[in-house]
Amino acid sequence: MEFKISELEQEPISFDMELAPGAVDFGEEAEQAGPMASSGLAEVIHEHRGPKDIVADIRLRGRFEGKFQVPCARCVEPVEIPLSSEFDLIFRPAGADSDAPERSITAPETEIGYYQKDSLSLEDVLREQVLLSLPVRTLCKPDCKGLCPRCGQNRNLQACSCDEGPSDLRWEALAGLRGRMKP
Ligand SMILES: [Zn+2]
Ligand SMILES: [Zn+2]
Repeated sequence: MEFKISELEQEPISFDMELAPGAVDFGEEAEQAGPMASSGLAEVIHEHRGPKDIVADIRLRGRFEGKFQVPCARCVEPVEIPLSSEFDLIFRPAGADSDAPERSITAPETEIGYYQKDSLSLEDVLREQVLLSLPVRTLCKPDCKGLCPRCGQNRNLQACSCDEGPSDLRWEALAGLRGRMKP
């Protein structure tokens, strides 16, 4: 969904929608599991910087809610987590601040972003908001045993016979690599 500045100048636009998995690409950090609901309101806010210097900002307020899969920090198996968050964001036209980097932000309660080419993509905003709301570290269970550093076996599923002993750093490197790949 695109919010065009020309349409927002006519009237605020409210939205209440369900996004199917795949509508937003979350990259490798998360995968949407089931529909994601999002609702809110987009409107224009005119910043009067001078008699002939009026900047048309887009204010986007809303929320999202959905289930996502992220890799377990220890065993990299996918873990389903519910995420929901509210947002209140201001987007200025790209380049509006290029000549005035010291300009103070007018609305201290909100965050500032930028929109390109006279429109703002809801999907782009949701991608960023979902990624910002991800927990720093997710475990499939509090006592996840992780991958064996020697043979790479998922020790939640089956004990391996390596037991103690010096670890093989190659498996630790592989575990780290798998953590960065899609499940
Ligand atoms: Zn795990
Ligand atoms: Zn092992």
